[in-house]
Amino acid sequence: MIVSGTVVLTRSCREECGYCSFRKNGDPLIPLSRLGDFFSEMAKGKATEAVLVAGQASYELPHILMGLSRDKCTSFGEYLHQACRMAAERGLIPVINAGIMTPLELRTLAPVAGAVHIPVLSAELEGPGQAHFKARGRTKASSHEMIEKAHQAEFPYRLDFLVGIGETEVERASTILEYGAFCAADPFLQDIRIIPFQPTPGTVMHDRPPLSFDSIRSSIEQASKAFPVHPISVPAHLFSRFPELIEAGLNDLSSLPMVTGDPVLPTFPVPSLEMLRTRLVETDATLYERLSLLTPAATNRSELAKVIGKARDKVQARVASGLNLLDNRACFVCGEHNPHGLQITFQRRDENTSAANWVPGPAFQGYAGILHGGIISALLDEAMANTISGNGLQVVTVDLRVRFHHPIPVGCPITILGTRTGNHARIHSARASILAPNGSVMAEAEGRFAEG
Ligand code: SF4
Repeated sequence: MIVSGTVVLTRSCREECGYCSFRKNGDPLIPLSRLGDFFSEMAKGKATEAVLVAGQASYELPHILMGLSRDKCTSFGEYLHQACRMAAERGLIPVINAGIMTPLELRTLAPVAGAVHIPVLSAELEGPGQAHFKARGRTKASSHEMIEKAHQAEFPYRLDFLVGIGETEVERASTILEYGAFCAADPFLQDIRIIPFQPTPGTVMHDRPPLSFDSIRSSIEQASKAFPVHPISVPAHLFSRFPELIEAGLNDLSSLPMVTGDPVLPTFPVPSLEMLRTRLVETDATLYERLSLLTPAATNRSELAKVIGKARDKVQARVASGLNLLDNRACFVCGEHNPHGLQITFQRRDENTSAANWVPGPAFQGYAGILHGGIISALLDEAMANTISGNGLQVVTVDLRVRFHHPIPVGCPITILGTRTGNHARIHSARASILAPNGSVMAEAEGRFAEG
């Protein structure tokens, strides 16, 4: 699997595929000036790749042209080129997923992007009521041409087989085999993904049945015959069926947007590492992390050498430490993405100190009207970890000692203060306190934290 983050550049798209829940009319193009923060967050969350997602040929729409001119880009290719450079500067391998792209775009982006996703269709579905009735730029021929042009531009690519969108079983199977014969030997092909149709409310094909599990399984079997040495994956929403799919030939999980969630199917949570491990325990499969780029043709590229080296170091350090800490911003105390968490924001006061203000509500009481001791411990623990991680580290608690001096009333505004006090090799020490509005100390803690 690849620890991945996704940035949606725009949901605007020239096409109107009948199954698409991603496209949103009039969605603006994200200004380049905002992308840096997204990439920095992803890098902090330990992603090794940034997938840049956009609708197909969105640059044909007037508001996207205005966005390009705002960013002083003469083309969408130039905009993507700059976005890729920004991701690489932050240690992320840029990967592009923007539908069928032009030969010029592929040539422009090949030196700076790690890889591109190429959608593959098994049938022309352009009749009334069919998936591509209003998507004339989505044809079998266009996928085929994009593979040829990516190869000529020496641009690594992943094949995304869109299955169950209206093609017959025979068409689907023969397409997978046909593409195996066409490009399984191409050194620029990195991996294969089987993407089954999933009906989504609000789309033209919302009332069509999803592709049956047997058909998904046989698509994977076909893919493992057609691409015997390539990683073959499915999207994360098939998580609960991974063990059975492994029996059919699934051998990889590829990009898992653990850091950002999946913007294409947001209602399906991306499984955490622990969930994946638990799920895979009943199989002989081993979960390991890899980079987006696998073949020498993909990794030996001068402009990307630095970012590939950095990403490789990240993965190796995680493997060596035995810990695989991912910050997906869902921490119970401070994660803004955890709807059931406290969502407390710590501010840095200086290099060694962080502080936060909070008013505990009645949901967090132990005895009537008194803040629960477990919550107090969590606050103190977080204050210490936060001040250490503010120095660019990710740590786990190995030792925690808490002293409760006074009961903390529910509804009382408190200040939570964490201070880093030192370190011995990769073990850091810190202390923390909780202060009442008059400055008196209500609880204190000391702790030791190991770098992950
Ligand atoms: S090309 Fe992609 S983004 Fe556009 S409508 Fe089709 S599936 Fe959606």
